[in-house]
Amino acid sequence: MYADRIKSLPPYLFAAIDKAKNSARKRGVDVIDLGVGDPDLPTPTHIVEALCTAARDPANHRYPSYEGKLAFRQAVADWYRGTFKVGLDPETEVLALIGSKEGIAHAPLAFINHNDLALVPDPAYPVYSTSVLFAGGVPEVVPLIRENDFLPDLGKIDPETARKSKLIFLNFPNNPTGAVAGKEFFKELIDFARDYRIIVMHDNPYSEIYFREPAGSILEVEGAKDVAVEFHSLSKTYNMAGWRVGSVVGNPEVIAGIGQVKSNIDSGNFGAVQDAGMAALKSPDHIVKDMRQEYARRMEILYQALTDLGLEISRPRATFYLWAWTGKDSIEFCKHLLDDLGIVATPGVGFGRYGQGFVRFSVTQPTERIEMAVKRLSEWKS
Ligand SMILES: *Cc1c(COP(=O)(O)O)cnc(C)c1O
Repeated sequence: MYADRIKSLPPYLFAAIDKAKNSARKRGVDVIDLGVGDPDLPTPTHIVEALCTAARDPANHRYPSYEGKLAFRQAVADWYRGTFKVGLDPETEVLALIGSKEGIAHAPLAFINHNDLALVPDPAYPVYSTSVLFAGGVPEVVPLIRENDFLPDLGKIDPETARKSKLIFLNFPNNPTGAVAGKEFFKELIDFARDYRIIVMHDNPYSEIYFREPAGSILEVEGAKDVAVEFHSLSKTYNMAGWRVGSVVGNPEVIAGIGQVKSNIDSGNFGAVQDAGMAALKSPDHIVKDMRQEYARRMEILYQALTDLGLEISRPRATFYLWAWTGKDSIEFCKHLLDDLGIVATPGVGFGRYGQGFVRFSVTQPTERIEMAVKRLSEWKS
């Protein structure tokens, strides 16, 4: 019944985890879920209020524009200027997305022909490689390994493969490893992409979840706009994962290509969600600052506990994930964690084969729950 493109997908590990989690809950276990990357904090009130008002506006009840309201795109451009000092033309360099996942999933359709290569990191958000597969392309793995601080070693990419590649997906601050890429790396990447005529698709939903210096945007690098676009999302920055709103910004030709695909598939975001998105993008600074502090506190608590347990983790610099080296089979490790302690974590292999041996812990649970997890972990050791 199913098309080859569905049959060729790797098994969806996360569904199996959900099943194990639910069956533990049925047995009466008080499960602490450190598996999902879904912010537990509520969307700030002023954003919810903006939605309520905008939902009553009949102008928002008709079909929205494909590319997003100009006012929304202007708000994204203003946010980029305010946050990264990056200038964007809202007319040609900004496109609204129904969550960045939607844009990532559709983007390769605009650039990949049958059997074209695309560079995708491993471990990574699984959407990069499935979107390439759906477009008929061939994902070429770029490993993210500990020895290289989870940055791709561009010098190790076979020049022949690079020449044949149409695009590269990357994501820093990184899910699942928590790694951050500095300006130097982004510069190197832009040069690499220019040399091999590769489109850079940088996925940056965690740019605001950093604990020391700001993680920044790839578009801060001079000339980046010649080869790169960046996906951004309100899901993590403003706790709006359920709202489905994000954007892609940067190279106008690439933006136009993605826009052309989208206009044949969806009909844009609900106008009221865009209006609320504008309210989010104009939030006072303390909104994001408070969120950052909350995650930093939780990260520190869990980091200490996991380190005490003997797991190897680098001190978190960004994101709400801890990427812990267990030295064991990552699925087995997570199974024991759930069976013995009622704690859910995500096995690293779910993000690709280079994730084997690692486990991802997410701090998207209230601090009391994380403290409870820490207590269980400390008893596990003894
Ligand atoms: C959460 C996340 C996204 C954001 O997805 P939305 O569709 O905007 O909610 C994108 N990429 C990565 C790596 C993520 O972890």
